[in-house]
Amino acid sequence: MKDLKPAHNRLLRGAAGACAWQWLPGAGAPALVKANRRDLSREEHLFGVFASGVFASRAKAHAFLRRLADEHNLCHATLGLEKAPPSRGRGCFGYQVKRCLGPCASAETLADHAARVFAALESARLVRWPHAGPIAIPERDEATGREAWHVIDRWCYLGTCATRGDIAPLLADAPDIRPFDCDVYSLIAKHLASGQLEWIACDARPSLQLVVQDAPPAAHARSAVEPQTKRAAKRRAMATGQFALTF
Ligand SMILES: [Zn+2]
Repeated sequence: MKDLKPAHNRLLRGAAGACAWQWLPGAGAPALVKANRRDLSREEHLFGVFASGVFASRAKAHAFLRRLADEHNLCHATLGLEKAPPSRGRGCFGYQVKRCLGPCASAETLADHAARVFAALESARLVRWPHAGPIAIPERDEATGREAWHVIDRWCYLGTCATRGDIAPLLADAPDIRPFDCDVYSLIAKHLASGQLEWIACDARPSLQLVVQDAPPAAHARSAVEPQTKRAAKRRAMATGQFALTF
């Protein structure tokens, strides 16, 4: 029955139409990958992610690639955005008006063109989910000392709880299907990748055992908690090693 929760349905509806470009090594052109077919949080070589909204995600994805091609003098035909030119002698329309460097007319090698495409796409590369299972991101109010733990799995927001100890029951009650959420992704992915966000790993295991582990040291770039006393410092020193709490 928990799969019928309204919030979950909203997530599923929103995620179903999302898509991203994927360009696998050796492929001739990028291909659109849909979130309802493949898990975008685990796929490699993804660039840009487009949610469906007023405009269909597919239209947004094509507009993104066209704009990128125009900015970097890439070939629309080679990228699959328009039909291949009838003759390699003339090249694509962009080549004729000097907006394409001519992989379509053998004026540029396909390898050189592909290298330029990858360089142009790099800033849009999707951040992979950083852990095998869910993670929790703490938020602390310095004035009151109150905490909130935001629990997320594969770019799907599962809920927020007040204490670290509440993470296990929250996960136990979370829906099994966890669709990629573009809003969650755009909110936290870059901060996670750059180490700006503190996070802990939460591994839900069969038989409802939950293990909470500290994230790798690099993820603790800016810990919000500073030891206030020698005793706290000692506690913290003990906590920085690899350890697990089993519920
Ligand atoms: Zn061309």
